[in-house]
Amino acid sequence: MSFESLGLLPELLRAIDSQNYTTPTPIQTQAIPVIFERKDLLAGAQTGTGKTAAFALPIVQMLGETTPQKKRRRPRALVLVPTRELAAQVSEQMQIYGRRLSLRSTMIYGGVNIQAQIERLHRGIDIVVATPGRLLDHAARGTIKLSEIQFLVLDEADRMLDLGFIDDILQVAKYLPEQRQTLLFSATYSQSIKQLADELLNQPKRIEVARRNITADDVTQTVYPVERSRKREMISHLIRKGEWNQVLVFARTRYSADKLTAELLFDGINTAAIHSNKSQSLRTRTLKKFKQGELRVLVATDVASRGLDIAHLPHVVNYELPDIPEDYVHRIGRTGRAGEAGKALSLVCPAEQPKLQAIEKLLKGAIPRENIAEFLPISIKRGALKKPRKATISKPNPKKVAAKEKAAAARSGKPAAKTKKVQRSTKSRTVGRKKAAPTRSAPKSGRRGNRS
Ligand code: AMP
Repeated sequence: MSFESLGLLPELLRAIDSQNYTTPTPIQTQAIPVIFERKDLLAGAQTGTGKTAAFALPIVQMLGETTPQKKRRRPRALVLVPTRELAAQVSEQMQIYGRRLSLRSTMIYGGVNIQAQIERLHRGIDIVVATPGRLLDHAARGTIKLSEIQFLVLDEADRMLDLGFIDDILQVAKYLPEQRQTLLFSATYSQSIKQLADELLNQPKRIEVARRNITADDVTQTVYPVERSRKREMISHLIRKGEWNQVLVFARTRYSADKLTAELLFDGINTAAIHSNKSQSLRTRTLKKFKQGELRVLVATDVASRGLDIAHLPHVVNYELPDIPEDYVHRIGRTGRAGEAGKALSLVCPAEQPKLQAIEKLLKGAIPRENIAEFLPISIKRGALKKPRKATISKPNPKKVAAKEKAAAARSGKPAAKTKKVQRSTKSRTVGRKKAAPTRSAPKSGRRGNRS
């Protein structure tokens, strides 16, 4: 299959060429014809599969064929995304393709001055890429008119639900015309995604592309069992000894991202963090530096990292495992992209065992463990698919003890001491068993999640 055979305009083929894409990815091959057929689409695909171009190309083409002549154009395509970073990436692609057909696109997200966005919208726009909250602010102020929207894309819909955007999305939908084409992209297909699809999509075509990061041979996954207190030392060691020069590290919270950043800087490793407490301009600058190789380590929280597209990223480290197993898949999706080999390493302490088991259950297999000579090996149980085995201390078998003593006595010539009868059964005692930590469920609708 070639891009030409998908029926794309020569202008877009040139744009694709400028991106050095030679063949369409599976999501592009499957989604583009459906979108051209004007069907609603429910697509199971995650970042890294080429999903952005899969919806951007046909939308741009269809909008370009019918661009109104008036100067102040109202938006005709709306892409809802969970984070600013993803908004920036989608918007960048919309611009690359859109400018070939004289289309204007813009992005709208919170945390920055609204006035500049109002001015851009006022000048006339064809495509808007937005996070739901700020878009609603504009809709409520009347600074954006959504009555001419023909295409609605929900990108990374599962993440939008995780972040509690459900009410905002449904609210946005009220501003949109009934007659429209809706495309929903989600890495996971949960009950809440199904409900959202039932609410917003009209007899959608369903397509699913392989979860490349779960099955991909081009991402090597390894677990390094380590005590919590030695994680920092281990990550420093791995980075320096391995001479890694571009490492994306995931921390669970903003606090721990900042703490680790300070520690790595102390160790002389050029590091910076991105999370929602950092200003948008600082996040953009940091990401740019990391992409250009001016920063050795980027420490990120899950939300801030969503949708990050950093080409040829060789190493991703889970400094802490995520609360939601699916986030592991998103995290390791940052490496091994577009056929490049990549390594995903997880530093796992004993307290994280339930999280590791949940991840392995999702992956339907155990991740190989590795120990480093400099760090005392500790055991993190393997085999989430089997019932976890209990750590046990066995009571001695009285018959065996008696036989051993008798044999020893015979050798020494002394009579064997009388063995005390063991009253209690010889059942194993379980030690150190912990209750499995509850896995986090999606926030209730209406409540915004903690955007880190
Ligand atoms: P996405 O899933 O949209 O975030 O895309 C992931 C990465 O794949 C981005 O770096 C895209 O530029 C790249 N990409 C998208 N389509 C193709 C293609 N057909 N061939 C090669 N790379 C692609």
